[in-house]
Amino acid sequence: MQFIKNKISSYIRFLADNQQVFLSLLLILLVPGILVFNTVFVVKSMDDNMNYELRLKAEMAGSIVARYSSDLLGDPTQLQAKIKLTVDESLHSSTRKVTIMVPEGENFQVLASSDQSEISQIRPQLQYTVAWHQHATIAQLVQTVQNHQTERLWQVVTPIATPTGSKLGLVEILVSTADMDARTQTVLVNSVLVLVASIGLVLLLIANNARLFQYALLFHKLQEVDKMKDNFISIASHELKTPVTAAKGFLSLVEQEKQVLPAEIQSDINKANMSLERLSDLVNDLLNVSRIEQKRLAIDPVPTDIRTVVGEVFEDLSGSAQKKGLTIEYHPFTGELPPVLIDPAKFRQIMVNLLTNAIKYTISGKVEVNIIFEDLGKVAVSVKDTGIGMSAGDMEKLFTQFYRVRNRKARDIVGTGLGLWITKQLTEMMDGKILVESIEDVGSRFTVVFSVIPTKKK
Ligand code: ADP
Repeated sequence: MQFIKNKISSYIRFLADNQQVFLSLLLILLVPGILVFNTVFVVKSMDDNMNYELRLKAEMAGSIVARYSSDLLGDPTQLQAKIKLTVDESLHSSTRKVTIMVPEGENFQVLASSDQSEISQIRPQLQYTVAWHQHATIAQLVQTVQNHQTERLWQVVTPIATPTGSKLGLVEILVSTADMDARTQTVLVNSVLVLVASIGLVLLLIANNARLFQYALLFHKLQEVDKMKDNFISIASHELKTPVTAAKGFLSLVEQEKQVLPAEIQSDINKANMSLERLSDLVNDLLNVSRIEQKRLAIDPVPTDIRTVVGEVFEDLSGSAQKKGLTIEYHPFTGELPPVLIDPAKFRQIMVNLLTNAIKYTISGKVEVNIIFEDLGKVAVSVKDTGIGMSAGDMEKLFTQFYRVRNRKARDIVGTGLGLWITKQLTEMMDGKILVESIEDVGSRFTVVFSVIPTKKK
């Protein structure tokens, strides 16, 4: 019992957490339900309408027969012939019997009938008495059983009267509902067929949508995993930052005394320094990723001359390019350049990433930084290299987290695969755009474009 209770409450919790699934289940029940209700309702109201119409027709036939019978009551033979004709040619194709009766004491006697065997029979029926005394047409549904077959009939009793209103007798007409029932049956069968087909279609759609449910659930789980990943990156990078900074501090103390140490230990210290530098880069990248993803990275835009920032970064990094034997050039725009509304520190980070990559992924040749301003309100900073380049497939995934090109040449170059993702996010946070062009073994060009602050026309 407890097990069932737990199961039910876990289903309820599941539905509450996954409202899409709940809504879909509701639709699964509602759509076929509405279809069934609609079919039943349509068939029922059609049956009611047809029944009502048949009754009206029977009443009309009754009053026509009553009209011509009033003149012929004195001549039963002619009346009989006329009634026979009426039924044979039929006022209504479903007319089963027409009977003319005259009062006989408390009861009524058959004067003429389409069923000749009934002539002269005495008919005691409440129906007749009511129609006679109320001087009104009475209609009711009756059932007959003939040869084990039940038939529904409209029995209409209408008084026969002189033009002045004195009652002379009664007309009874029996009209069968068989035709109407057959038509209702056909409509019912057709409706049920359409209903079954519609429900089948709905079920097919639902079966197809079952995969959508799975995707919805998967998506929900992915979101949770993504959140967990964000939290992990945030915690890990924060926790790593302090020990890395401490280790760097201790190593810098040792470095000051490096000269007095044996050459072998000096080389070990250099290696430790490089490894620590890489670890520090990784921690910084992770910290940036978590700040960006959790929208904690504040951008502080001020009007900036981007040439100043690019020039500083160029100065800082050209040494490492030259050390590698690369030619490195800076071609700033020399004309009047309006300022750009950006956060200089973040822009600096963008330039450091792009220039570091250009130097890192170029084995020989040249790295060139250009600033182009063609007075269209945009300024472009491009970093071009003659490095290892990359394929079109790599370019597509370049700006995704942790993506690194895995070819023979790039394999041995260390990195985190986070720099370009961070670069793109920072660029877009400052309303800029980043573009890449690259040819494998020829080189790459990364360009960032920003809008300049419009200058007032003199
Ligand atoms: P990483 O830390 O690996 O350099 P990035 O996000 O900066 O991470 O770059 C992602 C990948 O893009 C790199 O691993 C490298 O394969 C490729 N890449 C980036 N810049 C260049 C470049 N200038 N030339 C060739 N490949 C590059």
